[in-house]
Amino acid sequence: MDLDILENLKRIRFDIEEAKAKYRDRDDVIRLMAVTKTVPYQRVNLAVGEGVTLLGENRVQEYLEKKDFYDKSAEVHFIGHLQSNKIKYIIDSVKMIHSVDSVKLAAEIDKQAYKAGVVMNVLLEVNIGGEDTKSGVSPESLRELVYETGELKNIRVKGLMTIPPLEESEESFYKMSGLFSDLKSEHFENADMEILSMGMSADYALAVKYGSNILRIGSGIFGARK
Ligand SMILES: *Cc1c(COP(=O)(O)O)cnc(C)c1O
Repeated sequence: MDLDILENLKRIRFDIEEAKAKYRDRDDVIRLMAVTKTVPYQRVNLAVGEGVTLLGENRVQEYLEKKDFYDKSAEVHFIGHLQSNKIKYIIDSVKMIHSVDSVKLAAEIDKQAYKAGVVMNVLLEVNIGGEDTKSGVSPESLRELVYETGELKNIRVKGLMTIPPLEESEESFYKMSGLFSDLKSEHFENADMEILSMGMSADYALAVKYGSNILRIGSGIFGARK
């Protein structure tokens, strides 16, 4: 039986509601994304059956192997590191790409989106802790990246995403909420600052506190990855 998924979702939703009641407006929409890496499609579909409407994919190859078996009622976002030569495989089936951190990658997505006849929603990934090992644009270069990607007609910037350094979630989320609200208050030609994608299994309630509206949760729903 897969009762674990039901129990986990129940607990996570309770925590989200609790944090939301404390820190957010009642009308705020906070989406729960199930991050599917290493999880068999049958278990992913169980989560969809329990009302999860958003799936997060990290690896192109793994996604291509599983996507035809996914319950079609869920929307799929790509959240992992994306190589330019793989964009064409996902461009017509994902609704958003969370991990854009350079004009070069944005321009490649723009090109493939044009070919596929779509406008791709993207988030700009911020390396909020300035870690050498992580992808993401530095906070200092973020505004420039928003301007440069704004020139591209076949992508649309929808907001920001981050993966904070270990043990520094709160400070990082606080900084991200500042960057996000600063950009939100400006007018950009081709960007709508609507989405703040942050918070994973260990820190999603904190992310709610600092304004996240997409929580990306993997192991908290499906159990530890093997
Ligand atoms: C794996 C992953 C997650 C989910 O991590 P958990 O700790 O299992 O919840 C979220 N975002 C990204 C980008 C990931 O790669």
